Amino acid sequence: MKQEIKETIVKKIEKKDLKELYQDSDIKLAADIIKNGGLVAFPTETVYGLGANALMEEAAKKIYAAKGRPSDNPLIVHISKVEDVWHIAKRIPHIFYELAKKFWPGPMTLVLKKKEIVPDATSGGLDTVAIRLPENNIARSLIEVAGVPVAAPSANTSGRPSPTRASHVFEDMNGRIDMIIDGGAVGIGVESTIVDLTGDIPTLLRPGAITLEMLIEICGEVEVDPAIENLLSNSEAPKAPGMKYKHYAPKADMRLIKGNENDVLDYLRSKIKKADHGIAILTIDEHLKVLHSEGKNNNIKILSLGSIMDMESIAHNLFDVLRQCDELGVSEIISESFDESGIGRAIMNRLKKAAGFNIIDV
Ligand code: AMP
Ligand code: MG
Repeated sequence: MKQEIKETIVKKIEKKDLKELYQDSDIKLAADIIKNGGLVAFPTETVYGLGANALMEEAAKKIYAAKGRPSDNPLIVHISKVEDVWHIAKRIPHIFYELAKKFWPGPMTLVLKKKEIVPDATSGGLDTVAIRLPENNIARSLIEVAGVPVAAPSANTSGRPSPTRASHVFEDMNGRIDMIIDGGAVGIGVESTIVDLTGDIPTLLRPGAITLEMLIEICGEVEVDPAIENLLSNSEAPKAPGMKYKHYAPKADMRLIKGNENDVLDYLRSKIKKADHGIAILTIDEHLKVLHSEGKNNNIKILSLGSIMDMESIAHNLFDVLRQCDELGVSEIISESFDESGIGRAIMNRLKKAAGFNIIDV
């Protein structure tokens, strides 16, 4: 579909209360745009989403055009109450209700068999649909007032790091969409956990803030799609079609270093000493002092992702730091690795994808 240039309305909303938001004139404006087939970017608790009427084929197609997204990569459909699931999904298993009760509203997306009413453009031609009930009140009031399920992938240009601030959305989407709601920086910072409930055993398709450990507590057994941890060969297909694309990728060449702490620090120190081109080092607060003590090399930019004692803050900062690397114009990025338990699994999944699974064991 041809991309038309349009003026993008930007509105800042500071209200937090759900009842007040239902009456807000900017929410009403955004809801009208969505109902009528336009595109609105809005904050959720995970990342900013790019919303369209999920039941309108033409509207869903506009999302792919604005993002430059491959048309086989389906969209997540956002709803404002659990009962809305019945309109768009069928053969709903019992485990769905248990997971929804525990983690909705929240950063968890569930894949179910879709009903005919969901157009192919929304489901990427699959016979399933991915559904989420977000917690963010701006998102929930927008969906409720629009009165339709809202298809909303992350509001970035396809392949770029997901947006965690309205300014990131503006960078990628200004002139391509009808409206951006600026609701401040998002809370979590990595996209929702995706769980496929269409097979016998629930399968984790994308790790997020609802961790594998939390899912196992409710489901007992959970399979993990191999695309999460490893680069698949061309003949293998991940179950979440989006997971096969190079993703979250900054412009520079990126690699991850893995190893025990001292070896990693030695490797980084030698890089700092020798760097003859722009390199960004992504590290943790705890390592800043020792890396800075190597002395000044103007080619090196040292950026902290946060404290190792607070993995949530690392998830929160991740995409913002990757975008900062683009702004710094470095040609190489070297990032530290993290333990893959809890939210660390989501952090490592995004870092590995950003690095194209380029990992150095030191
Ligand atoms: P985004 O909203 O940009 O984070 O992307 C949505 C993600 O959900 C992509 O990785 C999709 O491949 C995945 N997804 C959406 N619908 C389905 C579905 N029906 N089955 C499996 N994965 C899905
Ligand atoms: Mg995305």
